[in-house]
Order: sequence, then C-alpha cells, then structure tokens
Amino acid sequence: MTLQRLEGFSRPRAALEQYQTPASLAARLLYHALMKGDIEGKRVSDLGCGTGVLAIGAALLGAASVTGIEIDEDALNIARRNAALLGADVGFIRADVKDRSLPETAGDLDTVLMNPPFGAQKVHADRPFIDLALALAPVTYGIFNAGSVPFVRAYTEGRGEIAEQVGGSFPIKRTFAFHTKDVQEIEVEVLRLIRIR
Ligand code: SAH
Repeated sequence: MTLQRLEGFSRPRAALEQYQTPASLAARLLYHALMKGDIEGKRVSDLGCGTGVLAIGAALLGAASVTGIEIDEDALNIARRNAALLGADVGFIRADVKDRSLPETAGDLDTVLMNPPFGAQKVHADRPFIDLALALAPVTYGIFNAGSVPFVRAYTEGRGEIAEQVGGSFPIKRTFAFHTKDVQEIEVEVLRLIRIR
C-alpha cells in the first residue's frame, strides 16, 4: 500500500523499456528477499531503478544501504522525489549498467534487486544487467519474462545458479503507441540468482 503511493514514469521511454513494477509485485519480491535474510542490514543495489520502487522498498524494509543505478535522469528525478516522499534513504547513481567502472563505484554489496528490460525492444538488453548483478553481489533477485529460466541458466553457466523461482504477473497498462490493449498481463518470474565463484 505504501509503494502504491509512488509516482510513475512521466514520459516513459519505450527504447529503455520503462515499465514501473506494480507495487504488489515489488512487495512480493521484496518480502521474499526479506524472509531469505537478503534485505535487513544488507547493502542493496537496484539496477535500472527507474522511479525507484524496489530501491525504496528495500530501504523501508531495513536495508543498511541502498543504491539505485539508472541511465535516465528524468526517471532518477522522480525516484529522488519518491524516496523523499516516503522518507527512504536511497543513494542514486546515474550510469549505464554497461559502464565497466560501476563495480568499483558501487563498492561491495550483498544483494542486487532488478527489473531489467526484458529485451522486447532491444534484444539481449537484459544481459548487461545480469553481468553487472553477478559482478556486484553474491545474491540477485531479478524479474524476468516467464520462460526465461533456460536462457538465464545457460547465460550464467559457470558464474551463477538459479536458486529459486517465484511466479507472478505484471499488468502493463497501455503506455506506448504500439500497445493494442488497455491492460496486458505479462507472466513473469522472480529468479533468485546465486553467484558461484
Ligand atoms: N526498476 C524499475 C524500472 C523498471 S523498467 C521498476 O521496477 O519500476 C527498466 C529500467 O531500466 C528503466 O528505468 C530504464 O531506464 C532502465 N535502463 C534501461 N537500460 C539501462 C541501462 N543500460 N543502464 C541503466 N538503466 C537502464
């Protein structure tokens, strides 16, 4: 209910696949991670944080520190307002997840949260997110298109392991001109990825 108060993207950019995670799905991911011991007292980062829902939620659930990383300055401004609205202590970094200096900038982390682009506009747009997540933290919770498990498993082979998957759905409201329905439910899965090296 608290996360439902957050402001969404004002002018979402299709090329960046800017879809805000609905509060209910964000809460599901966050409470799951909390119960696994991956939030409270932990150093958390949200990759492609957009308007900040996952980052802010993690801060409200007692993370020791939270860093939101996002390429789009407009989204970051909304995220900053959202954090202030709920009194959440979140640091934001404007950067492309492909930026190779990020692991050094972000420092040591415990948990990554992310709802990356699914690659609908730009194929493989999710890959640099997975790469950075594995570089930053031993545990990652990511939202992926349903059916992504074989891809994620193959892509992270030798680097990571899918420890768990939780199903969910993501109602996407009509946002872009190419959308044909008022609401489209997208089946998704939240994957808990563990780094193995
Ligand atoms: N995590 C937010 C937003 C999800 S939409 C939420 O859950 O609501 C995906 C986000 O990734 C968008 O905000 C988009 O601007 C950002 N993004 C896309 N490509 C990026 C890149 N290369 N580097 C950093 N952020 C990126």
